[in-house]
Amino acid sequence: MRNQEDRTTAARRRMVETQIAARGVGDGRVLEAMIRVPRELFVPEHLRERAFDDGPLPIGSGQTISQPYVVALMAEAAGIEPADRVLEIGTGSGYGAAILGHLAERVVSVERHADLAERARARLAEAGCRNVEVVCGDGTLGWPQAAPFDAIVVTAAPPLRPRALVHQLEVGGRLIVPVGADRHSQRLLCLTRTADGGCEEVDLGGVAFVPLVGEEGWGEDEGHGR
Ligand code: SAH
Repeated sequence: MRNQEDRTTAARRRMVETQIAARGVGDGRVLEAMIRVPRELFVPEHLRERAFDDGPLPIGSGQTISQPYVVALMAEAAGIEPADRVLEIGTGSGYGAAILGHLAERVVSVERHADLAERARARLAEAGCRNVEVVCGDGTLGWPQAAPFDAIVVTAAPPLRPRALVHQLEVGGRLIVPVGADRHSQRLLCLTRTADGGCEEVDLGGVAFVPLVGEEGWGEDEGHGR
């Protein structure tokens, strides 16, 4: 048991060194969270030996658990402090929420598929993440009942910047979101809310996420095959 535990921790450490730190993520708290959170728990059982692969993996309902590097990049860009309240849109496996939970005081994560939300809750409980709440709904509208947030991380791609989410940020709060009208590639943006109600925007580079489907996202049948 102990040996097994040491082996998976060692595998996660290797993942962090070769895929994440090597590509320039330097935030010590993010790297530590990526070593501590048991990623293998959040991938389907038959894919466990690929849990630390350098890419996304299927999790059912046509969705994926994001590549480890992308999870770390978004968490670092969100600039999360220990007292922060964070919103994640797109719970998927629950892995990204677990990482955010390690960095923040409290996390609310919104998932539109009820079955994925249910499974993510079970895995988060198994992983001992007690400060993460998974809710089911249309995350393009955010989660106004718990707003404002210090950071919002969106793990599916809308065609345009989602306005409702910007409004649910504290002044100085960061929205990390992949935006693009092309289903296969987007720009990862960091929008920081300013005191005058506007935003400062930084482009973090090219990415490829599954579509964000909802009122301020793609329609049910849009966003495919473009
Ligand atoms: N953070 C996840 C990645 C999941 S992939 C992880 O670590 O595993 C993106 C997820 O966004 C999918 O589960 C998809 O169902 C969800 N999604 C898409 N549109 C959404 C919306 N409008 N509201 C909430 N979740 C949405």
